[in-house]
Amino acid sequence: MKIDFSTLPLAPHAFSEAPMTFCKSEHKRILSSIMDILLVETGHRVARENWQAAQLRNLLAHAAQRSAFWRQRIGTRKSYADVRLSSLPALTRADLRQQVAREGSLMPPGSEPTQKHATSGSSGVPVEFFVSRMNGYYNSVRGLAQHFIDGRDLSLSITRFKSLFTDDPCGFTVSKVDNPYGLQGFVLRGAYKKIEFTHPDLKALSKELRRDPIGLMIAQPRIVEALLQFAGVDFFKEAGVAIWLSLGDRPSQSARDALSSVGIPVTANYSCEEIGMIGYECGSAPNFYHVCTSNVLVEIDQTTLADFDGQPAGRVLLTHLHSYATPFIRYDVGDIASLHKSCPCGHQGPALSNIYGRSKQLLKHADGSLSPFLIRGADILAVADISEFRIRQTELQTIVVEIAAPETLPPAKIDAFRQLVKTYAGEGFDIQVNQVPKIDWGRDTKRLGFRNELLS
Ligand SMILES: [Zn+2]
Repeated sequence: MKIDFSTLPLAPHAFSEAPMTFCKSEHKRILSSIMDILLVETGHRVARENWQAAQLRNLLAHAAQRSAFWRQRIGTRKSYADVRLSSLPALTRADLRQQVAREGSLMPPGSEPTQKHATSGSSGVPVEFFVSRMNGYYNSVRGLAQHFIDGRDLSLSITRFKSLFTDDPCGFTVSKVDNPYGLQGFVLRGAYKKIEFTHPDLKALSKELRRDPIGLMIAQPRIVEALLQFAGVDFFKEAGVAIWLSLGDRPSQSARDALSSVGIPVTANYSCEEIGMIGYECGSAPNFYHVCTSNVLVEIDQTTLADFDGQPAGRVLLTHLHSYATPFIRYDVGDIASLHKSCPCGHQGPALSNIYGRSKQLLKHADGSLSPFLIRGADILAVADISEFRIRQTELQTIVVEIAAPETLPPAKIDAFRQLVKTYAGEGFDIQVNQVPKIDWGRDTKRLGFRNELLS
């Protein structure tokens, strides 16, 4: 083991100038938090598993104490040490909706404030949930820790894509931070550009991306694939992409191969809105993801085991160790994967492969072009209180929207849904919105909020 900061681009005044001190206290805090995560995730297995078992006991005790919903599942006990996680029922999205609606946040009165979040649009069953301030802090530190795990150059500029509703005529907005200090101010780093997109005009978007070197490109596969089709692979090289970090969905082999062909490495995170980081792709075994053991326990539901590429795979159940505001204990996130005790690279911690993520969220247009398509659950819920939705492109110019809601929706609400889908899809589509008593998901175990029947 060697700790060496010679490649860390320290700012000239990174250190404290007070007597008998080295680092400033705010820098020490962030470094120590990064160290916590690295120790848990890359340290010895037995120490990690003991820490996880203790965190699980704490979470179960909290949930059972603060929530009738969870008491009924876990039972009331003196000690939670002997609770076997696998003996608890899986938590579905419908269960979660029920817990949140009945009980709200489970943070004790007087504790730090909580925030309400909602899942993104990849699932057709949107849910709202609460997060604590610690969750937000952890997520930002976990992102920083990944730079150290991957040995990334911190001085690279970062361009981050985020799917968000915008009524900008170009279908995207740009915000840029030129402040070159990272890690709370003690390293020099490149600019940070955030691009929020709904239905981007790809010509305007590619022009914007050429303005500054992209550097680390944090982007969903659907936007990269749409840009690949529109501008070709050389565009990425010319626009200064140093590495592509794929978020949300798994990058397709064709997109990986295309970027690799011009020398751009590709890596991926496996995450979801409810839990944050679940896994990150191994640097030496592609398509294997090291589990973020400082954040989550991963199980594979044994009742849904299937053979997938010659390996047993099943539904992914997640226990978020820091989910005190809204507990996620054995949460069925709607993905399918294979779980391994260790990674082929030698990493002595759990690893996932065969992650069958959310399918291609691309819309096909009359001229044959593809554009990314994702409607956030929060935008749908802002129109009306619905329980499920499914959007399908069934023909080149037809989008069918099915909505299940507890109350009959008035024509104005139906029209508001049509307008919302139109804003995301753009012109040239006949959008049919139907309220249905229940969505017939059939064999679609993932219950995707959007499915393109022309591409599947
Ligand atoms: Zn590995």
